[in-house]
Amino acid sequence: MRQDEMWMGTLCNGQARWVAARTTHTVEEARIRHQAAPAAIAALGRLMTGTLLLGATFKNAGDITARLLSDGPLRGALAVGNRLGQVRAYAQNPQADAPPKRPGKLDVAAVVGQGEFAVSRPMDNGAYYTGTVPIISGEIAEDFAHYLLHSEQIPSAVLLGVLVETDLHVAGSGGLLLQPLPEADESTLQALEACVARLGAGISVLVAEDEDMSAYVDRCMGTLPYRVQEKTSVQFTCSCAKQKLTDVLASLGDEELANLIAQGEAEVVCHFCNERYLFSREELLKIRSAD
Ligand SMILES: [Zn+2]
Repeated sequence: MRQDEMWMGTLCNGQARWVAARTTHTVEEARIRHQAAPAAIAALGRLMTGTLLLGATFKNAGDITARLLSDGPLRGALAVGNRLGQVRAYAQNPQADAPPKRPGKLDVAAVVGQGEFAVSRPMDNGAYYTGTVPIISGEIAEDFAHYLLHSEQIPSAVLLGVLVETDLHVAGSGGLLLQPLPEADESTLQALEACVARLGAGISVLVAEDEDMSAYVDRCMGTLPYRVQEKTSVQFTCSCAKQKLTDVLASLGDEELANLIAQGEAEVVCHFCNERYLFSREELLKIRSAD
């Protein structure tokens, strides 16, 4: 089993930069944790991969949050990721599904629906910048590119794909981000466009091939000359822990806490990873007395 990875670097003699990610196992882990349906995991997987790619383009290694605030059956989704390759995500309704557009082509836009796409990212001064744009396609890759152009003024091409097998497991997931730098000449822009046109919607198939990362990046780039500057491993990483959820319980009102104590125990589930934490009556009493 190949490790998920994210690589980044420059191309076309430093006139553009690129980030490529393979997230197959990470997205499969999200599918299992959330028991997500095919179209829902395709949406969630693209959102997770896009968040990683976006995180890699910013120097700050803090968490970036990408949200789909949308009205489709998924009822919105959220991914948190960073340039260290850590990512987690959830959807309000991971069981959301839709008939495929054609055999093998999941209808992600149908489960996402209409609404807004919002990204929050840390700035160097420690404050957060949040940009919100309308969802233009619901296919998510275009929505990341639209966000980058209109909210960050960074022209970019974003390709994202998740391939789900008929037995429902994630056979491939990954993405590629290309950004021409301001000094890029016309021939570089054309070369990037040709690369995107060549890959088209086939990126998930490409990722599903069991090759090493360098072969994947080679096939993404085709004839474009590129350099690798950084390599990171990618993992589904949740920051939850029993201590954090203890803080959540401690922040409840007296009445709510008394109710839980009367029930004898409390179960708290982390949205992001579906991990269940059980609090005994003794633990609940201790939380109340510490208040
Ligand atoms: Zn968690």
